[in-house]
Amino acid sequence: MTDTPSFRAAKLPHLRRRKLRKGDPVPLPLTMAAMYNLPGAPAGFAQYGRFDNPTWEGVEEMLSHLEDAPAVAFPSGMAAISAVFFSLLKTGDRILLPSDGYYTTRMLAERFLKPLGVSFDQRPTSSYLDGGFDGYRLVFLETPANPSLDICDIAAVSAAAHAAGAIVVADNTVMTPYGQRPLDLGADIVVAADTKAPNGHSDTLFGHVASRDEKAIAAVIDWRSLSGAIPGPFEAWLVHRGLETLEVRFDRMCSSAETIARRLKNHPKVQALRFPGLADDPSHNLARVQMERFGFLIGLTLESEISAESFINGCALIQPATSFGGVHTSAERRARWGDAVAPGFVRLSVGCEPVGELWAAVAAALDEA
Ligand SMILES: *Cc1c(COP(=O)(O)O)cnc(C)c1O
Repeated sequence: MTDTPSFRAAKLPHLRRRKLRKGDPVPLPLTMAAMYNLPGAPAGFAQYGRFDNPTWEGVEEMLSHLEDAPAVAFPSGMAAISAVFFSLLKTGDRILLPSDGYYTTRMLAERFLKPLGVSFDQRPTSSYLDGGFDGYRLVFLETPANPSLDICDIAAVSAAAHAAGAIVVADNTVMTPYGQRPLDLGADIVVAADTKAPNGHSDTLFGHVASRDEKAIAAVIDWRSLSGAIPGPFEAWLVHRGLETLEVRFDRMCSSAETIARRLKNHPKVQALRFPGLADDPSHNLARVQMERFGFLIGLTLESEISAESFINGCALIQPATSFGGVHTSAERRARWGDAVAPGFVRLSVGCEPVGELWAAVAAALDEA
């Protein structure tokens, strides 16, 4: 019972309570501090703003509760991914990255790992197991991959990668801890951009690393203190507040996405549709096994760039924007960034609007597209 998403969600708003003294504020205080009162021997006390902050600790406590593992906060998803790479890899290591995952992760490897002597290969998520993992120090997976929404078997990849001596890192941004549990499926480390659904209000960047491996956690904490890639206390406070409503937002977004995907599937203007929740989607069978929900991202292909732009910009309840996971439904044409998708491919991030009104607006914009 204690490891269900509902149990974790129910306990989340009460985590602070056992520490409160009479008269303490119930909400998490925002502590802006570079200095702490520190006479005499410093060990065991908050020392300096690059090492310690009580507002980070508040958000990390929530993230740890959700991940069921120690979690370390970072100023963005990429800062979390960088912390894992730069604290755990060394010259001569070889890593595997998904060719269809978040583009910036590959760019980081190309631009900054390669010159340090860390090489990388790429492989599509849908066939991530093919070829095995011999020779890799680290296997990085992202499932569902963004924007293709192909998925890979986290348990099978983890088992094969471990047998080959690699550590497994899962980017769980798209699913959040409520939608998928990579650590329970065998991954060693989770990284995520809390910029997306966890914060949920499109007003701040944030990220975290979670792991049950004490050495990995100690290494990323050292990286954060020494590199200075620390989150701002106000951003941590915002994410703490966002996490309090993640479960209810995520539930609405995933349920609405299921409804909208089913309706899009039958719409004459939609040439192709990807959503792991549809029974005939290539990701469906595996998604049912390893995901708690099917997520809130939908990939739909319209006839052309023009019709896709007209759909996105003409819909009253779609915010044209890159990024995803906000309370407002948003969409973009991924080919504008050079992703290997059709010119009319649209990534739709379903938000929290009531689904009847949302579908009506989507259908009206499709009819005009
Ligand atoms: C957005 C995103 C990131 C990067 O997060 P930032 O907060 O923008 O640095 C990493 N991985 C995935 C899958 C993302 O969607």
